[in-house]
Amino acid sequence: MSDMMQRARDLDAADAIAHFRHRFDLPEGVIYLDGNSLGPLPKASRERLHRVIDAEWGEGLIRSWNELPGGGGDWIAMPQRVGAKISPLVGAKPHEVIACDSVSVNLAKLIGAALSLNPGRNVVLSEPGNFPTDLYMIQGQPQVEQRLAGRDEMIEALDESVALLLLTHVHYKTGEMFDMERLTKAAHDVGAIVLWDLSHSGGAVPVDLNGANADLAVGCGYKYLNGGPGAPAYAFVAERHHGDFSQPLTGWFGHAQPFAFSDEYEPAEGVKRLLAGTPPVLAMAALESGVELIAEIGMEALVAKSRALSEFFRECVAGLDLDLVSPREPAQRGSQLSFRHENAYALSQALIARGVIGDFRDPDILRLGFAPAYLRFADIAEAARHLAEVLETGEWERDEYSTRAAVT
Ligand SMILES: *Cc1c(COP(=O)(O)O)cnc(C)c1O
Repeated sequence: MSDMMQRARDLDAADAIAHFRHRFDLPEGVIYLDGNSLGPLPKASRERLHRVIDAEWGEGLIRSWNELPGGGGDWIAMPQRVGAKISPLVGAKPHEVIACDSVSVNLAKLIGAALSLNPGRNVVLSEPGNFPTDLYMIQGQPQVEQRLAGRDEMIEALDESVALLLLTHVHYKTGEMFDMERLTKAAHDVGAIVLWDLSHSGGAVPVDLNGANADLAVGCGYKYLNGGPGAPAYAFVAERHHGDFSQPLTGWFGHAQPFAFSDEYEPAEGVKRLLAGTPPVLAMAALESGVELIAEIGMEALVAKSRALSEFFRECVAGLDLDLVSPREPAQRGSQLSFRHENAYALSQALIARGVIGDFRDPDILRLGFAPAYLRFADIAEAARHLAEVLETGEWERDEYSTRAAVT
């Protein structure tokens, strides 16, 4: 056994959260370094979905909105209940978070909310290279003027015309992390509202929305929270704004009394106002069990292991000719390592053929995610060995590894 594999075994033996791996259904022969894109299936989610389908939908039918067969949490309060379970993972209070819609749709709602909190201003400031949907949602608002500034110019670009600073906390491609507290304060100093996209943060890195005095946030349910493909996202509005904000998607579920069926819209209290339509119960149930599992493991242990895993990978590949684009300091990056390589796509395909699933981000990034809830140090040593072999043998140069699929 190699030295690194021996070390990996020792680290696994000392890992206090190692046993949580068995709570996931992971396919044989796969080392999954893509939990930052789609988290794997928690065993409890399979059971939960069967129960929702057979008992709650099949037997309970419409009665399950109010009361489940055999008791338990009803359907109608799912968005608030799941939001409350997410809240401690991101440093929020239970009534400040709600689970609903996609990140994209919640961005549209919260950009609108920010404008409602900051009337008279119309500039939304973000960074070039932010996750596309964040920029597209800014561009889709007819009354908004988009301003983009690089990381080094961000604070300078904040002035009294800025209504909203919209940033992704952990960059999806590079894993770079913004200093949430510092930027939030800089934005507040010029009277701007801040909206943090936590898609690559929630369940992976320490987030303290209230500690940073954040205003608004969104986050993804299907990445580190393991909520399943297309899982609902979550949205946060700080309590101090609950009385004042409005949002443009004024659907009936965000009404103060949806079942009064009145003609006039009257917003519900707090984050409930962010709801638009009927919650997708099956998807919400899967998200709930994913979130419960992450909450059970606990952020402190997850963060410590995430850092240890990625640092161990760095050690394992130290001798290889790889260009790390993620910050070297673990506390300054998300739970991922990204490497720049001219043939990153072919490299990622050659790794997938060996059962090491990471991903490629256009144009030249090989991105490896180190989700701490289920990965072993032994997986890390193995993945590093495969990467070394693929590079050394030039295996990635095979034709079959350069044809692109629709989803990369
Ligand atoms: C994954 C991700 C999203 C996803 O948006 P959806 O609308 O849920 O598809 C948005 N923003 C960032 C930064 C992401 O990483």
